[in-house]
Amino acid sequence: MSQNTIVRFVKRPQGFVDESSFAIEPALMPQAADGQILLRNFYHSLDPYMRPRMTEMDSYIAPFDVGQIMEGGGIGVVVESRHPDYKPGDVVRGMLQWAEYQTAMPGGFMRKLESSGAAWKDYLGVLGSASLTAYVGLTLIGQPKAGETLYVSAASGAVGSIAAQIGKIMGCRVVGSAGTDDKIAWLRDELGLDAAFNYRTVASMDTALAAHCPEGIDIDFENVGGETLQSVLDRIRPHGRIIMCGAISEYNTAGPGLKRIFRIVSHKVRMQGFIVSEHFDMMPAFSAAMTGWLKNGKIKYRETVIEGIENMPKALVGLFRGENFGKLLVKVGPEPN
Ligand code: NDP
Repeated sequence: MSQNTIVRFVKRPQGFVDESSFAIEPALMPQAADGQILLRNFYHSLDPYMRPRMTEMDSYIAPFDVGQIMEGGGIGVVVESRHPDYKPGDVVRGMLQWAEYQTAMPGGFMRKLESSGAAWKDYLGVLGSASLTAYVGLTLIGQPKAGETLYVSAASGAVGSIAAQIGKIMGCRVVGSAGTDDKIAWLRDELGLDAAFNYRTVASMDTALAAHCPEGIDIDFENVGGETLQSVLDRIRPHGRIIMCGAISEYNTAGPGLKRIFRIVSHKVRMQGFIVSEHFDMMPAFSAAMTGWLKNGKIKYRETVIEGIENMPKALVGLFRGENFGKLLVKVGPEPN
């Protein structure tokens, strides 16, 4: 009998997540019931929001239950179908299990994925929801004007690298930060950011932002939170916008708590959070724009692709140590022909 491999969530982490929160287990091949499809998954996306989902925090998405099979964005191919609209060989994208094989009832976020000629992994990467997040945050909340200073934290990552480049396309002066010198060289030399610095080696975030944003910050694309956001608050300009996309520095440990909040009042700042899944209606506009930018070389991207389902826990832990460079994906099986 064919065997399957799954990854279960087995323990809520206390502090920094490690691999002991997960168990890699053999499993029997699942059987599709009426209305279901049997999928062979081949790409998974690993994302920072998975860490807050490991807590019991009240959020926009239900917490992982201890004992459940882990899940996240992924792409799979239909092996067997008992659903009238799906046939073997169809490719689907949706919230998939960390499993080589699974059954699913299509609908909701799970949809057929028709390739427009791009590589399959791009539909989780540069054409996927991380890039859409950058587009939504900037266009709906940031609303950049040419000449404004845009600061992007975690700027070499999946969301940050796209936000920084869309900012350049919109005529901003773009400053980014990231955690290795290689990442900084890429941001400056390949993506053409106006300035970039390694937040791990600068004397302090305050001095780095003062040096690289001497006129202050008009728009902050906030991916990190904590001390980074504190320093931004101290340099935000009148009528500045803080796009609250994420706060990765606070996902494993509580942040310091913000001080000088009155600056939001005194500088008439708009600070707004958002969740990309509420804006999937913007996918067609985003896809059209992104396809054009890719074609004329205005957007570049990187991915880190890990091989093998058994490496998913280690890869997810590595995301919080900056081990990925660009979108973090796991290839759990061969691409369909
Ligand atoms: P990335 O590809 O940017 O990977 C995460 C990166 O964050 C790491 O590579 C690391 O890079 C950096 N990082 C990790 N820990 C810290 C820390 N303590 N302090 C500073 N930097 C850190 O991930 P994504 O692009 O997928 O996500 C970026 C942000 O966007 C996250 O906050 C995420 O939660 C948020 N997000 C929000 C969405 C929404 O709908 N609002 C949707 C998708 C993502 P480095 O080497 O630079 O440290």
